[in-house]
Amino acid sequence: MRVIVVGFGMTGARFCTELAALAPDAEVTVLAAEAGQVTNRPLLTDLIAGRTDPALLDLDPVLPRHWQVWRGTACVAVDVGNRTVTDADGQEHPFDHLVLATGAEPRGLDGVTGSRPLVLRSRTDADRILEHSDDRRVVVVGAGLLGVEVACALQMAGRRVQLVERERQVLPGWLDADSAAILASCLRDLGVGVHLGVDDHTTVAGDLVIACVGVRARTHLARVAGLEVDRGVLTDGNAATGVEGVWAIGDCARRRGEEWRPMLDEGWDAAARLARRLAGRPVAGGPWPQVVRLRAPGLDVGFLGRTRLDGWDGGTVDKARTVTLLDPDGRRAVRLVVRSGRLTGATAVGAGDVFGDLALVHLRGLPIPADPAHLLARGEVAIPPCDVDASGPWTPTICRCNRVTADDISDAYAAGAVDIGAIATATRATTGCGGCTEAVCSLLAVLRSPADEAV
Ligand SMILES: Cc1cc2nc3c(=O)[nH]c(=O)nc-3n(C[C@H](O)[C@H](O)[C@H](O)COP(=O)(O)OP(=O)(O)OC[C@H]3O[C@@H](n4cnc5c(N)ncnc54)[C@H](O)[C@@H]3O)c2cc1C
Repeated sequence: MRVIVVGFGMTGARFCTELAALAPDAEVTVLAAEAGQVTNRPLLTDLIAGRTDPALLDLDPVLPRHWQVWRGTACVAVDVGNRTVTDADGQEHPFDHLVLATGAEPRGLDGVTGSRPLVLRSRTDADRILEHSDDRRVVVVGAGLLGVEVACALQMAGRRVQLVERERQVLPGWLDADSAAILASCLRDLGVGVHLGVDDHTTVAGDLVIACVGVRARTHLARVAGLEVDRGVLTDGNAATGVEGVWAIGDCARRRGEEWRPMLDEGWDAAARLARRLAGRPVAGGPWPQVVRLRAPGLDVGFLGRTRLDGWDGGTVDKARTVTLLDPDGRRAVRLVVRSGRLTGATAVGAGDVFGDLALVHLRGLPIPADPAHLLARGEVAIPPCDVDASGPWTPTICRCNRVTADDISDAYAAGAVDIGAIATATRATTGCGGCTEAVCSLLAVLRSPADEAV
């Protein structure tokens, strides 16, 4: 089996790792436009904040010796009829299976005078931001997930930061307006200037602009090759494009009928499933529950499942109920969405412990109290030990990036991994986007016996 992988970012590398474990005899060639090592992109903001060891950003996998990784060598053309790709040196590579993992690139910004705005996608970008922001006023444009993370990271690194957003709230599309107002107060508490509803007639002064206004899937190759593309390369639930033997995973792909979601858990899940499929193994599972934690120093913000009320099923059968706690003075906001007696979504600002519990309830499909308001406060709902619902509707997954279940963590704990570092070493939980850290801590607290706590 000859496999060509185009793109050696977080998803392409994860696919190679998974396939190497299942089918090491495959003939694999990777074309990687980037010359350097594979980078853990979510840790870039930690690098800017100065709160991570730079070595932790390297994610280069160990692969079979006969696999070839051509670094600094982009793929420039795909011929699906002849089943070949051409690299930038003009060399042709035949394939039985082609895996497109070309990722996404940052969108540019109009209306900025002066020097060109910087972006954050690579290690080089992070180094450039640190180098150019020293002792300067930084304007971060876009208060989405990345913009808020970058603003906080730079603030922690001692820069003077202004965060600018076109919409009238931070994290538009992620938080309701009331929760977003509380988050904006948290940002101002940290010293970040927050400017909302900024239009073409507003001036915000700064020496350096960083554009965090979203990403766009890299679909050029696929489009020219005749694959079906809209916001991403269109795939079915198993990464298959419309052309036999041509697959797309990670940020460059969009599953038909679903929102384009350029997030790590999505890409790593697709990578693992595709590796199993190419190795002739059964591919398990359905859609995974979604859990996202903001990686912003000084802030505690989490999202899980579906929290938007638009686009739901019309409200005739399965009405959603929203329950909200707003505590502006305590800088806390928790919002739950409940459907048919289950927690289907939640957002939490300044309430990490509550969010950890909610994540467990959601991921494990636990029944919720008759009055869902009890979920808003810590300690009001007993989270049973993880073996209680092992026969539940799905295996409770805690670290979705690394596909680590509550049972895996429980087993590791029983084998002596009693703290978060040991759990990470034993299971890889928390080493992807880091968003599960709170859930792992909550689970550890449940598992821990009084004797352990005394140690
Ligand atoms: C600062 C930051 C923080 C983030 N935080 C989170 C987070 O907390 N949680 C989360 O889920 N996600 C987060 N993300 C998003 C996450 O990093 C991406 O979802 C993930 O990197 C996607 O992996 P990928 O391999 O699909 O794309 P990429 O990592 O972009 O890799 C694609 C690779 O393909 C290469 N390539 C492109 N075209 C070609 C070609 N023609 N030939 C050869 N190679 C090519 C590119 O050079 C690149 O190396 C964050 C991203 C950033 C930038």
